[in-house]
Amino acid sequence: MIQGATNTPKKIRLSKSCLSIAEKQAVMSVLDREYLGMGQEVQRFEKDLSDFFTRPVTCVVNGTAALQLALQACGIGFGDEVVLPSLTYVASFQAVSAIGATPIACDVDEKTYVLDWCDAEKRLTSRTKAIMPVHYSGGVGDLVGVYDFAKKHNLRVIEDAAHAFGSLYRGKRVGSFGDIVCFSFDGIKNITSGEGGCIVTDDLKILKKIQDARLLGVERDSEKRYKGERSWSFDVTAQGWRYHMSNIMAAIGIEQLKRFSELSARRQSLARYYDDLLKGHPLIKTIPHDFTSIVPHIYVIQIKKGNNRDCIQAKLLEDGIETGIHYQPNHELSFYYHENIQPLPITDSISKQILTLPLHPDLKQEDVERVCESLKKNLREF
Ligand SMILES: *Cc1c(COP(=O)(O)O)cnc(C)c1O
Repeated sequence: MIQGATNTPKKIRLSKSCLSIAEKQAVMSVLDREYLGMGQEVQRFEKDLSDFFTRPVTCVVNGTAALQLALQACGIGFGDEVVLPSLTYVASFQAVSAIGATPIACDVDEKTYVLDWCDAEKRLTSRTKAIMPVHYSGGVGDLVGVYDFAKKHNLRVIEDAAHAFGSLYRGKRVGSFGDIVCFSFDGIKNITSGEGGCIVTDDLKILKKIQDARLLGVERDSEKRYKGERSWSFDVTAQGWRYHMSNIMAAIGIEQLKRFSELSARRQSLARYYDDLLKGHPLIKTIPHDFTSIVPHIYVIQIKKGNNRDCIQAKLLEDGIETGIHYQPNHELSFYYHENIQPLPITDSISKQILTLPLHPDLKQEDVERVCESLKKNLREF
């Protein structure tokens, strides 16, 4: 053994995929059948997700594609505007610009970091077609307010629920209600299918468009693929993409969904433990979530004093603790920045102070303790 390596504590990862033997066996059985593309596993995963959400579901290759296809299916495109919080993963912005529409950055609520619809209202124009609330860290904020606002202004609502798989809002599962709700199953989300995503809606016209668009616009090809066939004679009437989900991915997703109560309980209890250990700290603000109903994708704190977040992050890393920043605001990125952006004061101030602590189902209680000790120790030094 290398000298010195013995005392180095194990590195605590910010996030990771958590897979059991069941996922591995499911992938093996797809490989054994030698039908890797979109087929019966995808159909099965869609059925299981439909049961979970009690509404129709269509699976795609990732969460970004889910958002892009949802926007496109609403007829949104060049010249149209979509309002969304600047404090989100660049995926949400790219989904809007991918179809030629313009993402309009708006500010967030200072407590929950989700879209502030009062701020969004100031940014509406005659070209605004949709609003995209992002369920930051797993919470949805005033979602009823968002829907009332959208109704008043005749906007479609495309929820970016990538962080909120399994969360409840007023006792109902996110995705089980609302206009169009998009999820991601990338490797580190609340459940994973390797990569993957889905769209949930009652609007069957929208869903049909998405089903065609994910298979290069080939009409009604989905039904064929479920039976292990494909269309040889077909029509294409709209722009499509190669965005379908594969059987390998779906096989992982099916097993993860079966394990969801175990995975989500773990995330919730770890987040509650963080809350307990950090409660009352004068320099730390946490998001006031009720972790009996919210399933957190990330655990975010705000370091209230000064701008030494980056130093703290470096110090934690020295202690073997990986942390993250969710997110650098999108309106600052070269591709999305422009001079006429109205100020986003909350986003500008919190984005310099937020820090994401490690959270994934394989994290141990003692890891949470180590993170909080290191954090408190390093905060004292500033
Ligand atoms: C993960 C994520 C996405 C995109 O999902 P992918 O599956 O990675 O394409 C979109 N929005 C947010 C907020 C995300 O965290």
